[in-house]
Parts: sequence; C-alpha cells; structure tokens
Amino acid sequence: MNNHKERSKEKSRGLIERLNSGPVICAEGFLFEIERRGYMSSGEFVPMVSLEHPEVLENLHRDFQHAGSDIVQAFTYNGHREKMKVIGKEDLLESLNRSALKIAKKIATSPIGYEPNLMAGNISNSNIWNNKDPKTHLVVEKIFSEMVGWAVDEGADILIGETFYYAEEAYKALEVMKKSDLPCVITIAPMAENIMRDGVSILDACKELEQRGGDVVGMNCFRGPTTMMPYLKEIRKALKCHVAALPIAFRTTEKNPTFFNLPDNNGCTCNTPHKTTFPTALDPMQMNRYEIAKFAKEAYDLGINYLGVCCGANPMLIREVAEAVGLKVPASKYRENMSRHFMYGTHPRVPKHMRDYGDKA
Ligand SMILES: [Zn+2]
Repeated sequence: MNNHKERSKEKSRGLIERLNSGPVICAEGFLFEIERRGYMSSGEFVPMVSLEHPEVLENLHRDFQHAGSDIVQAFTYNGHREKMKVIGKEDLLESLNRSALKIAKKIATSPIGYEPNLMAGNISNSNIWNNKDPKTHLVVEKIFSEMVGWAVDEGADILIGETFYYAEEAYKALEVMKKSDLPCVITIAPMAENIMRDGVSILDACKELEQRGGDVVGMNCFRGPTTMMPYLKEIRKALKCHVAALPIAFRTTEKNPTFFNLPDNNGCTCNTPHKTTFPTALDPMQMNRYEIAKFAKEAYDLGINYLGVCCGANPMLIREVAEAVGLKVPASKYRENMSRHFMYGTHPRVPKHMRDYGDKA
C-alpha cells in the first residue's frame, strides 16, 4: 500500500509538464450534470450538493475520472458569497467550498492509474461585476480572494478561473489566483455579441490574459464547438502559452452563438414555461459523441492541449474527447462494439434474418 502511494507521488507531474508532453483532459459541466441527476435546482444553480449529497458529487467525479479526466475540478461554481446571499445561505459559504474541495482532493489523490489527478480550485463569473461601477470590483475581488484561500488551504494543485464575459473581471480573477503561486487556467465565455461585455475583443482579452501571466488561456462554456472554434484558431495562433478549449455540448449556430437563446429546431411541441430553451429544454440540440470527438481532434491538431467539455458534458463525452486525441482511458474498456449488436452486428452468431431486417426496424 505505502509503496504504491509513494510511487504515485513520485510520478505526479505538474499541469504544465503534462501539457508539454501531450493532451490534458478536464471535465467541466458539473452544474448541468448534477441538475440532470436530480440534485440541484435549475435556474437557481447553487452547488449545495457538496453538503447535502456529497456521495453524489463524489460519484460524478469518479465517473469523469474513469472516463479520462486528468483534472478533478472542485465543484464550487456559483458557490460564491454573492450567490449564497441570493439563496439566503451565506452562512454555509465556507463549509460548502471546503466540502467541495475536500471531495475533489479525495478523488484526485485516489486515481485509477498510478498518477494522481490534479485537484483544481475554481472561481468563476460573479454576476455582479459591472464595468461602470468600480465598487463592484472590490466586492468581486473579495469573493475571489476568499475562495482562492480555501482552495489553497485544501491542497489545490492548480486554479481554474472560468466563464468570464467581462475582460476586466477575468483579469481580476487571474490577479487574485496568481497570488497563490499555483498554475492558473483562465477561460473566457463571451456572450452572443462576440465581444467581451466591456468592449474588449475576444482575442485581445486572451492576449492580455497571457501577458498577465495566465499559464493556460482559452475559452469555456456558453458556446458549442461550431461557434467556439473560429476564435480558438485565432487564439492558438496569437498566444505562446497553452490554450484551453471546453465548449458546451450543444449545436450553437452563427445566428445564436450561445445556448442562452438557442431555439428548438427539432419540432418541439411543448415549450418551456419560460422564454428560452435554456437551460431545461436544450436536449434536442445536444451534440452527439462523434461531433464532440471531431471537435477535440481538430482542436488538438491545432496545438490546443487542454481539452474538455463544459455544460452538457457527461462521462461518455469525456471518454470520446480523450480517445479522439489518442488516449486510452479506463472507460475505453466499454467503448462501442456494434459488431456484437443483435441486429446490426457482424458477429457470425447474429442470425441472417435479423441482420437483413436492420433497415426496416
Ligand atoms: Zn458550462
């Protein structure tokens, strides 16, 4: 046992070392997946799960780990002071954060292979940042600082700042994260206007984040592969540091570049009680695994080594991303094998009258 643990420790590499030698997979999208599993209120979207059903969160981390995620991202998205005030549970802020971090650390340090995963502390868009009101900047800085403090305390290996649509808020997040001396991943999520809300272009925001010391810079959330890829190409060309690409798993379009206003185009006969298909009726616009795999391969071929899926991610899609860039992961054992299907299979035991029936089924 001890021997095994020591060996694991020795083999543990840092984030940049891993990225320099190949792809690193990061599963995101915890919010949607935990909601889908029935442990979170949609719309409210607060990760109370780390306190109320820690075993559920632990299982999801395990599932993603099994599917090939190298990073175990603590589920503290939206678990910040402002959001906790909105739901009247500010008193649970620190315990929620610490619980999520402890769960992530537990999974990261008990890997399926020899090498431990990297545990990531996580901060994100605060929702109160207002570029015209500097007072909000101070409040947000405090929000970030306390969360980063707890992450460092609980043994985070890296920090992830994600889903920023104000450039200046992303810069502030990076500034706070960098005080920790941990490797920092920072990803932006521009809205459908295709520009940061404070008027900075997507590319300029990323260039600035690199200048300010982002170890990994890129994009996550809000956009599917189709409307994220054009920007990723520019970003990869312009930046020297490692680049991150974590789209949502939905078919966003040039007309509707994000999932917020994505219309149902699949004959929906029962509209949502609210105006948009977001966030509860996006299912028909879900990308299939081959589309996600194609995206991952294309991004990797461009030189983007930090890859994952955000909202809409599930363990199967994470396995597809990992396999698309040449990795074999524990879940590869269960990849599809249609040759043994009862009707479409090619196995000699599949009767001819069943194979012949496939196109009428
Ligand atoms: Zn997302």
